[in-house]
Amino acid sequence: MRSGVESPRLSHLMWMFCLRSLVREYGWLFIRRVAVRHPWRTLMAFRAAGRIDATARGVVEVGGGPSDFRAGEPPSIAGAGFCLKPVDPPCPSGRFNHDCVCLERPAGPDGVTAPVPCRSCAIREIGTRALGAGSAFYVMTSARDILDDVYVPALDARQFPTGLFVLCRYSFIPFAVGLMASGIHARLLPLESGDCRDYRTWLLADRGIKDEQTTFDTAASADVDARLGGAAPVRPLRVVRRGNVLFPAAAPAG
Ligand code: SF4
Repeated sequence: MRSGVESPRLSHLMWMFCLRSLVREYGWLFIRRVAVRHPWRTLMAFRAAGRIDATARGVVEVGGGPSDFRAGEPPSIAGAGFCLKPVDPPCPSGRFNHDCVCLERPAGPDGVTAPVPCRSCAIREIGTRALGAGSAFYVMTSARDILDDVYVPALDARQFPTGLFVLCRYSFIPFAVGLMASGIHARLLPLESGDCRDYRTWLLADRGIKDEQTTFDTAASADVDARLGGAAPVRPLRVVRRGNVLFPAAAPAG
């Protein structure tokens, strides 16, 4: 993890966030499915997450360092918050879900025939790059779903040893706890605007109440380019969905 000065204020915020989470269903499930199984690693995850400077601009490394991502190797999973889905005109797949009809049934590599909201959608942009690079792709919704879809598969089957996630800075520290406790080395990339900045708005968004469309940080976009490649795949993607996660399938020859 990128070293950072442990700020008492940030530690306090993190502990408040975690204590509040304990009284929610997610907190108890996290304890049962992750913390009880790996108590020492979870303790270390809390400690390490407390050193993250979530106020600094740029990418945050979690659970390791750049060396965890070998050169030219994409992360095993990329994820982006549902709040990146467009609002006006709205996403044809709906908003608070893991669906993206454009990625699941691609219209073409150039996107010309894609529905209007999809043409400049960040979910499509990140998902196309991720799947084209060979990574799984996940539209992130609630903490509860992330536990089921990412943390637990990572613990049970080492399914996602590395990850690249685009989300609000406010979520960086608690999200990093879950990632590190689950053994995932990851890069966290911040949203630029419209993101949640306090517990109340975060809690509403965790239930799907989020009217603002977020935007993607330019520095984060450059990092996605570097990690996943800027070019669209030459052939249309074939995608298989397992549960809530999309995986690339080999394109037919010819
Ligand atoms: S590309 Fe964006 S707007 Fe289109 S279906 Fe996917 S998430 Fe919705």
